[in-house]
Amino acid sequence: MNGELAELYQEILLDHNRHPRNFRVMADASRCVEADNPLCGDRLRLYLKLEGNRIEDISFRGVGCAISIASASMLTDRLKGASVREAEALFETVHDLLTREPPPGLAADLGELGSLSGVCRYPMRVKCATLSWHALKAALAEESPPAVVSTESNGAQAS
Ligand code: ZN
Repeated sequence: MNGELAELYQEILLDHNRHPRNFRVMADASRCVEADNPLCGDRLRLYLKLEGNRIEDISFRGVGCAISIASASMLTDRLKGASVREAEALFETVHDLLTREPPPGLAADLGELGSLSGVCRYPMRVKCATLSWHALKAALAEESPPAVVSTESNGAQAS
């Protein structure tokens, strides 16, 4: 990654952390999952309102480090109005971006989410970045999702 791109990515992350999008409690959410990363102290609650197979509305609240907040902010920004299928596909893509050596060009295709691509070099930060995505996956998977997914518990382990 060249210096200019790294700087741009840094700017995007900082902006989402300072001004998180969709940062609110949703009173009429159809699904709500809390995601806990005790290693860092990130604790986020993701709210979804589903209409058929579409994400009508999505928001989050909570406390966490800059990476976890920025990642959740970009998640909600990107998926409002998306279909469940699109959301599941995006989970897989972002998970690859964060945990593997992503194929060239993947980060560029992801728009702002590409700014998370540097995170895979910092193993401690990967759980921060994937946290809200695991909440998303759990929320989409079943009508009564687990109340909490944790990066450290055995049942619904997130990595
Ligand atoms: Zn964190």
